[in-house]
Amino acid sequence: MNIPYVNLAGQNRVVKKEILQAIGKVLESGQFILGKEVEAFERSFANLCGTEYALGVGTGTDALVLALRVLNIGPGDSVITVANSFISTASSIVLVGAKPVFVDVGEDYNINPRLIEKAINSRTKAILPVHLTGRPADMKSILEIAKKHKLTVIEDCAQAVGAEYREKCVGSFGTIGCFSLHPLKNLNACGDGGALTTNDRNLYRKLQILRNNGFSTRDNCAAWSDNSRLDTIQAALLLVKLNYLKKWTDRRRENAEFYQKHLSCLTQVKVPVERPYEKSVYHTFVIQAQDRDRLSNFLGRKGIGTKIHYPIPIHLQPAAKSLKQKSGSLLMTEKQAKMILSLPIYPELTTKQLSYIVNCIYDFYNQ
Ligand SMILES: *Cc1c(COP(=O)(O)O)cnc(C)c1O
Repeated sequence: MNIPYVNLAGQNRVVKKEILQAIGKVLESGQFILGKEVEAFERSFANLCGTEYALGVGTGTDALVLALRVLNIGPGDSVITVANSFISTASSIVLVGAKPVFVDVGEDYNINPRLIEKAINSRTKAILPVHLTGRPADMKSILEIAKKHKLTVIEDCAQAVGAEYREKCVGSFGTIGCFSLHPLKNLNACGDGGALTTNDRNLYRKLQILRNNGFSTRDNCAAWSDNSRLDTIQAALLLVKLNYLKKWTDRRRENAEFYQKHLSCLTQVKVPVERPYEKSVYHTFVIQAQDRDRLSNFLGRKGIGTKIHYPIPIHLQPAAKSLKQKSGSLLMTEKQAKMILSLPIYPELTTKQLSYIVNCIYDFYNQ
């Protein structure tokens, strides 16, 4: 059996007809920049997240940079976040001139709220939690700490579209939520894309200007800024995919349940366990495995694709050298990096494929 880690072509086959139709309409309208499909997508996306406003932008990285910029976070400021994430969680902070301060994570791979207060000082402006693997961070604790210290909360929701915490969607807790619509995310464009969510009308208006070269009207530039808009063609096909998102998320959750049911009795493997007030969307299904590298190679030889998210924590990346955060300073993050392994979890997986993966994992530990 051959089970790739992702199967984007397989997913797109289901929606290809509808997508080609939607793209055809855009071609005929000739409105490729901020066309009406972008606005329609933004309305639907805000609705999905339970926020007043949503805004389409060029990438998830841009969403983070624009969020930090519109909140006036820059040189001299620091932002508390995590080191086990995709690089742009931290690079966005550096790109606006501020300093990322990394806090260790818990068993859920998300920021450990008990360690946040120790990291706060007079320069701290914001907390930037990541809902890693599609599982919501502990927003109740994070919001309480933020309120006490008058800090802004920016959520990195790139992996967690539709994830819920106490029956509210991620992206609706902080001042701004940042999403990626990259082909590998749960809701994905056929190319790059990103989105921002907020309930603050003033910030929304400013973000509209900042994503569009700073133009407040056609000819008046209010601020120096980037060009970072979601393409109309991408918005059109995202509108199609939005209709399938719930079904796809349900399938991911069923796949996760299958793994949990069949792998939890293996002592060599630790599977994620959802808390009752969480709804994870399982962007990734991350296990912690004894002999991780040998297991991953073994599965590879059996035709099963796996990945590591992420093998090198951000504070240990060459780019992070100037931050001077040493190896050994984030014990849990560094320990997890050596044991984590992401198994295929996409909606199109069949029960037969899932069983094969589980059986191969048993074979590895029984040999
Ligand atoms: C993918 C991702 C991003 C960046 O999104 P892009 O659209 O690739 O720029 C940021 N944060 C996290 C946690 C991600 O997974």
